[in-house]
Amino acid sequence: MNFLEVKNMPKILIVEDEESIRSFIKVNLIRHNYTVLEAASGEEAIELANKQPDIKIALLDVMLPGIDGFAVCQQLRETYPQLGIIMLTAKGQEADKIEGLALGADDYIVKPFSPQELMARIAALLRRINLPILNDPIKLLTTGSFSLNLLEKKLYKNDTEINLTPTELAIFNLFMHNENIALSRDNILNEVWGTDYFGDIKVVDVNIRRIRKKIADNEHTYIESVWGYGYRFQGDVTDE
Ligand code: CA
Repeated sequence: MNFLEVKNMPKILIVEDEESIRSFIKVNLIRHNYTVLEAASGEEAIELANKQPDIKIALLDVMLPGIDGFAVCQQLRETYPQLGIIMLTAKGQEADKIEGLALGADDYIVKPFSPQELMARIAALLRRINLPILNDPIKLLTTGSFSLNLLEKKLYKNDTEINLTPTELAIFNLFMHNENIALSRDNILNEVWGTDYFGDIKVVDVNIRRIRKKIADNEHTYIESVWGYGYRFQGDVTDE
């Protein structure tokens, strides 16, 4: 395990068993001054994450010896809801992308990728992780039974905490600022992932599905699908 610390720069964990890919990623991350941690297996990655809880982003290869990238994603997500996760998927494995997202990954990137593309994805995810606090003078948003504390980066429903990933939190923040307004999927993609995002629009649907599952109750889903367009959030349902 190599460990290169650059002061105050986000810590990124690379989980990849192929040494050549790992060092390719590492060289590029270091060039951009990120602090880099490396793991050649899922087991090693989880051990490392437990020792270094301030890791901002994990880059997770899917095909690993021992437990695979999906299992690592699931475990890391359960323990560290605020960690950013980008899956590294093989070309043509369409199902892998959706599987990873469904398990809580924030994004995926298809191999082989250019350093520029990887850096753009990382920068965009870091923006999502930091965005609510940097851009918003309001630190507490409330509607109905929901309250979003942007300083803590936590969502509460009836005072019970709901664990959201950085991406889910960014989407929910957008909804809170646009309650009862139909937002197009493109709009959500641009606001949350950035206009330079060159991934699949399905990431929006998968993330919305995950948020719904976390916030829904017997009476309400709170996020309504607007057919052929996008989604509308209604947190305050007292008038119904
Ligand atoms: Ca691999």
